[in-house]
Amino acid sequence: MATKWVYMFTEGNATMRNLLGGKGANLAEMTGLGLPVPQGFTVTTEACTQYYEDGRKINDEIMGQIMDAMAKLEEITGKKFGDKENPLLVSVRSGARASMPGMMDTILNLGLNEEVVETLAEASGNPRWAWDCYRRFIQMYSDVVMEVGKKYFEELIDKMKEEKGVTQDVDLTAEDLKTLAGQFKAEYKEKIGSDFPSDAKEQLMGAVKAVFRSWDNPRANVYRRDNDIPYSWGTAVNVQMMAFGNMGDDCGTGVAFTRDPATGENGLFGEFLTNAQGEDVVAGVRTPMHISEMEDKFPEAFAQFKSVCKTLETHYRDMQDMEFTVEHGKLYMLQTRNGKRTAQAALKIACDLVDEGMRTEEEAVAMIDPRNLDTLLHPQFDTAALKAATPMGKGLGASPGAACGKVVFTADDAVEWAARGEKVILVRLETSPEDITGMKSAQGILTVRGGMTSHAAVVARGMGECCVSGCGDIIMDEANKKFTLGGKEFHEGDAISIDGSTGNIYDGIIPTVDATIAGEFGRIMDWADKYRTMKVRTNADTPEDARKAAELGAEGIGLCRTEHMFFGEGRIDAFREMICAETEEEREKALEKVLPYQQSDFEKLYEALEGNPVTIRFLDPPLHEFVPTEEEDIKKLAEAQGKTVERIKEIIDSLHEFNPMMGHRGCRLAVTYPEIAKMQTKAVIRAAINVQKAHPGWKVQPEIMIPLVGDIKELKYVKKFVVETADAEIAAAGSDLEYEVGTMIEIPRAALTADEIAAEADFFCFGTNDLTQMTYGFSRDDAGKFLEAYYDAKIFENDPFAKLDQVGVGKLMKMAIDLGKPVNSKLHVGICGEHGGDPSSVEFCNKLGLDYVSCSPFRVPIARLAAAQAAI
Ligand code: ADP
Ligand code: MG
Ligand code: MG
Repeated sequence: MATKWVYMFTEGNATMRNLLGGKGANLAEMTGLGLPVPQGFTVTTEACTQYYEDGRKINDEIMGQIMDAMAKLEEITGKKFGDKENPLLVSVRSGARASMPGMMDTILNLGLNEEVVETLAEASGNPRWAWDCYRRFIQMYSDVVMEVGKKYFEELIDKMKEEKGVTQDVDLTAEDLKTLAGQFKAEYKEKIGSDFPSDAKEQLMGAVKAVFRSWDNPRANVYRRDNDIPYSWGTAVNVQMMAFGNMGDDCGTGVAFTRDPATGENGLFGEFLTNAQGEDVVAGVRTPMHISEMEDKFPEAFAQFKSVCKTLETHYRDMQDMEFTVEHGKLYMLQTRNGKRTAQAALKIACDLVDEGMRTEEEAVAMIDPRNLDTLLHPQFDTAALKAATPMGKGLGASPGAACGKVVFTADDAVEWAARGEKVILVRLETSPEDITGMKSAQGILTVRGGMTSHAAVVARGMGECCVSGCGDIIMDEANKKFTLGGKEFHEGDAISIDGSTGNIYDGIIPTVDATIAGEFGRIMDWADKYRTMKVRTNADTPEDARKAAELGAEGIGLCRTEHMFFGEGRIDAFREMICAETEEEREKALEKVLPYQQSDFEKLYEALEGNPVTIRFLDPPLHEFVPTEEEDIKKLAEAQGKTVERIKEIIDSLHEFNPMMGHRGCRLAVTYPEIAKMQTKAVIRAAINVQKAHPGWKVQPEIMIPLVGDIKELKYVKKFVVETADAEIAAAGSDLEYEVGTMIEIPRAALTADEIAAEADFFCFGTNDLTQMTYGFSRDDAGKFLEAYYDAKIFENDPFAKLDQVGVGKLMKMAIDLGKPVNSKLHVGICGEHGGDPSSVEFCNKLGLDYVSCSPFRVPIARLAAAQAAI
C-alpha cells in the first residue's frame, strides 16, 4: 500500500507525535476531545524526510495527497481554496516532534490574491480586515518562503504610520493597508525578480516546502544541538483553516498557560489582544491585556476558555501552554502543548500534580528535565535586570551560573584582588592547571579559546563556578592587560557580567541573587533516590568539593585527581623538586615533603564522605605540566635543589614531549618512578587508618585507581608494589583496613582485553574523556577547532566529549563489562568522565548495568535525577 503522507485532524491523536509532530498531534487530540479547533490536516514528518531524500522536492504522491486533503477540508468548511466568492484561507504551520519555539515560521491567510481580497473586502463589508489579512500574508510569505527579510516590510509599515500620524497598526485604515499591500508586492518583485504568486496551490506548495526547508536552517540546527533533538526527525506541516482575530473589536487573539511558567503557581497566566492576529501578542505591536481582563470583554468566550483549560490539563495531566483566537465572540483553540517552564516552576508543578492526585511520584520525577536543575544550583541574575540588558558578545555556556565583577587578566591578580575583597572575572586566552587558585578566587571565568571540555570548562564545572569559554570575538591583548569586545576596549578593573548558561557576556554589573534550594527540590530528589538503582558519586579533588558534593547527595568519590592536590601553596615547590630530581634519593627526599600534604588531604576527603567509598586516582598527567615557567620560580627551584638554573632548564626541556597526552603519563609514571606510587599509597592508607580510628562506626575503604592501563602487565607490575606498600602500612599499624586496587578503562586496548585485566582489578572505572579521545583519535583540547565544521556537515550532531558516543565508545564499554564480569564476579564498575553528569549518557550507563556514575559536585543532583529516570 502506498504511504499515507497526510492526515486530517480527525484522523490523528496525541500518540502520533512522531509522525504528526507535536502541534499536529495535539490539534488532532483536541479535535477528538470535541474542542473548538479550526479544521485542517497534517503533512507528516516522514514527508519531510522524503523531501530531503528526493533532493529537496515534494514528490507527486505527496503533492497529490495534500490536494486530496485540501478537497476534504473544502467539504468540511463549505469553502473553496483559491475561490473568489467563498475563499478558504488557511495557515501553514510547522511542527516538529519536540517543540522548537520560534524556530520555524508560520504563514497566515494563505489563499489570498488581488482578486480574492477585493471580493472579500466587498462581500464581508469589512475591507479593513480583508486588506489586513492580505498585507500580513504577503509579509509572512515573503519572509518565510522567499527569505526577503522582515525588516523591509516593517520599515514600510513604520513609514506609513508616520505619514498617517498614527502609532498603532490598528489605526491604519483599509485604504492604508491596501496601499501597504501594493508596496509589499513591489518590494517582493524588486527583491525576487518575479511577481508575487497569485495561484493558491502554488502558494501552498511554496509554503510547505519552506517549512520543510526551515528544518535545516542554521538557527534550527543550533537549537537542535543544544536540546538533543536529532536531525533525522524532520518536521511536520499543518494546514489549518483560519480563525480571524482581526475582524474588529469583538475579536482577538491570546496565549495562556494553565499555571505560571516562571513560578509554577496554579492559575491562568497569559495575555490577550483585541483585534489582532497571530504573533501580535508576543511581538509587542501593542501592549496586550492580562488574561483575566478578558473576562469583562468576552465573558462567554472566557468562560468557555477556562473550561477548555481544565479539560486540557486534566487530559494531559500537565501544565498547558495554549494559543487561541476569538472571532466575533466565538472561541477557537489553535494550539496546546505541555508548557515550557523554569526549573523552579517545573519542581513546583510536579509536586503539585502529585498532591492533586494527577500524577504518581515516578511520573513527577520523569517530568523534570535534569539539565534544568543546573540553573537552580548556582547564583542567578536578577530576572528583570537581565531582561533589560543587551549582551555585547557570546561564548559557550560552559559552566552555568551568573557572575559579575572586575576584569583581571592573570590568576595571580585574581587571587590578589579577591584577597582585598574585590569580585573579579578572570579573562584569559585559555586557562591551564596553574591558574586553578586564581580561578577559584574569581566569580567567573571567561576564555577566548576552548570548548565545552577545555580546561577552563571542566575545572569551572567541577568548582561549580560560572564559566563562559571560547568567545572567539574577543580580541585579546594579555600582555597589555586589555581586550576588545563589541567594539569596546576593556581594561583591568572594568566591570563585566557573564552568564554561564547562555554564554552571554554583558558590559557592566548585572545584580545577582543567591540560589535557594526550595522544598520542592528536596521532595523531587527524595523521590528520585527512591526509584533509582545506580549510585551517584562525585569527582572531587578537594575537601571543599567533596563536602559540597556530599551535601548535594553524592554517595562517594568516584574520582579524586591527586595531581590537583599538588598545586596548593608549599606543595608545588616540593613536587617540582621531585620532578627535577636526578636520583632516586633526591626524588624520595622530595616525596617525603609531599607525603604529609597528601595524607592530610585524603583524611579530609574521607571525613567529608563519612565512610562512603573514595576512589583515588594515582598521578596521571605528564610531568611537564607541573614544571615552572617563570624565571623566578626556576631560580627558586635551582636554589632549593642546589643546582644551576641551566641544569634545571635542561631537565625541564628534557621533559618536553611531542604528544604528551599519549606520552609519559598515567601508570607509565608509576612504572618509571615507583616511588611516586608508593608515596601515594602510603598517604592513602595512613589517612584511611587514621580516619577509621577516629570514626569506628564508619567503614573507610579506599579504592586505589591506577590510570591509563592498556596492558595487564602494567597493572600487575604497579599493583605489586602498591599492595606490598599498603600491606606493610596496615601491618605496622596493626589495623584490619580493607582496600581495593582497580583501574581506569580509558585506553581502547584495556577494553579489548578486559577479561585479562578483570583478573587483577577489583573495579573498573570508565575514564570516558580519554577513552573518547583515544577511540576517535582526536584530542579533546584540539577538537574545538573542527567540531563546528563537523556539525555543519552533519558528521556530528553533538560534542562527543559532552555526550557519550554510545555507538563506538559505548561498544567498548559494553565489551569491557561483558569480558570482565564473568572473570571477576565481585568487579564493580563506574564511570568518571565528564559524561557521568550528562543525562542521556547516564541513561546509557544504567542500561549497561554500571554500579555508579561519578560527576562534578554540582551535577550530582542532575545525575541522581537522570539515574532515577533511567530506572523508571
Ligand atoms: P509557533 O510555533 O511559532 O507558535 P504557530 O504555527 O503556532 O507558530 O502560529 C503562529 C501564530 O499564528 C500563533 O499565534 C497561532 O495561534 C496563529 N495561528 C496559526 N494558525 C492559525 C489559524 N488557523 N487561525 C488563526 N491563527 C492562527
Ligand atoms: Mg504556536
Ligand atoms: Mg584519563
